[in-house]
Amino acid sequence: MSAPQRPHPPSVEQLLNTDGMTTLQERYGRSLLRKAVRDYQAELGEAYRHNALQPATLQAKSLLEEITARLEHLHTPNVRRMFNLTGTVLHTNLGRALLPEEAIQAMALAARYPTNLEFDLSTGQRGDRDSLVEQLICELTGAEAATVVNNNAAAVLLALSALGAGTEAVISRGELIEIGGSFRIPDIMAQAGVILREVGTTNRTHPRDYEAAINEQTGLILRVHPSNYLIEGFTASVATKDLATLAHAQGLPLLEDLGSGSLLDLSRWGLPREPLVQESLADGADIVTFSGDKLLGGPQAGLIVGRRDLIERIKAHPLKRALRVDKLTLAALEAVLRLYQDPDRLAERLTSLRLLTRCATDIHKQAQRLAPLMAQQLGAHWQVETLATLGMIGSGAQPVARLQSAALCLRPQGPRRERNRALTALMAALRALPVPVIGRLDDDALWLDLRQLDDEALFIEQLLELKVTTA
Ligand SMILES: *Cc1c(COP(=O)(O)O)cnc(C)c1O
Repeated sequence: MSAPQRPHPPSVEQLLNTDGMTTLQERYGRSLLRKAVRDYQAELGEAYRHNALQPATLQAKSLLEEITARLEHLHTPNVRRMFNLTGTVLHTNLGRALLPEEAIQAMALAARYPTNLEFDLSTGQRGDRDSLVEQLICELTGAEAATVVNNNAAAVLLALSALGAGTEAVISRGELIEIGGSFRIPDIMAQAGVILREVGTTNRTHPRDYEAAINEQTGLILRVHPSNYLIEGFTASVATKDLATLAHAQGLPLLEDLGSGSLLDLSRWGLPREPLVQESLADGADIVTFSGDKLLGGPQAGLIVGRRDLIERIKAHPLKRALRVDKLTLAALEAVLRLYQDPDRLAERLTSLRLLTRCATDIHKQAQRLAPLMAQQLGAHWQVETLATLGMIGSGAQPVARLQSAALCLRPQGPRRERNRALTALMAALRALPVPVIGRLDDDALWLDLRQLDDEALFIEQLLELKVTTA
């Protein structure tokens, strides 16, 4: 008796001639279709050699479905919209500040048409791209001059390189910090060619510490906002004002890296107060640097503001050209800065501030609307509750401050081992949704902080597609 004939996988050409391929080619293009077909054919061949080819796989309908799925996968952009339900508003891994509509439109315009990026419309001569935003930044901060680079890390690197290379920079030991993503002050200083001269102790630094360290090698005094961590208890640091007086008495500039920085007193909206750029300048800092996409609520950028002569030196440094921002960033930044000209309406118009100031009662009501749907979708093995929770600003702004919020707390029931598996499966299922949902794991439950759930309809729509499978 002979063994039944093993089915051969079709050739690439045969696959390309299957019904439905023309439609796929029209939708995805010839080259992507060929790639999907070739890859799948190779896999079928591999399965054949291992005697693992199922005849059902080779039916025309299955072949078409598989290739369609592969094409859809190949066609999906890598940059995906997500729901950030972590409770951290300015989440560095999820893209930090969301831009207001004004900034999005300005970017679209700059992307679509030629612009006066470096063209002075009044004279017809070549212009300077900083001039598109410099005046506005100066008005809002009280600075004499300003320039913009790729991010705040670049701003610190450039300012130190231009003003301190080859000299000693004096900094408190309490400010030699590391920020997520391997930004470390001592490394940046070394990279800028500045010699680190640390003074004081981790928790306490006094004016006399700075004074004792200043010598003929000293080029500047650096002050850095500790951002992600807080020194509490028996502490002392020198106020910007006193540090500026001390620096100026020795003819040295004071550089202050504010990290997040802020242009308005956030306590006006019930938020914790971050140091203001204009205060730092008014207190005598000669150069201040801060991020564009942290509390400012704009695009990724690093803003450098301060004394005109120093800004001129910074702009003239060769690194400036390497670190400069593009037209899209400048367009978005200008639009965001213009919103700051009307502080009374800022909380409605600036997306990040709107989210930061969203009231807990609203969020709670939203959670109550969604809880029954979620409970129904997850079934009897889950406890779904609406609970008060505390979120964060994020990006190193006020690391210990918390935002009153509300969350859907999703808690698996059953034995411990199963609960962990269920949580892992739920998080994977939420990530697999068309708009992936990211929550926060805490206390053996998944918390979906709804502060940033603006598109409730979309959330509900795709919730119905949620399928949690535990392997
Ligand atoms: C966040 C931060 C930086 C880096 O800013 P980016 O805009 O992320 O490059 C630098 N210094 C301080 C103090 C910060 O908080």
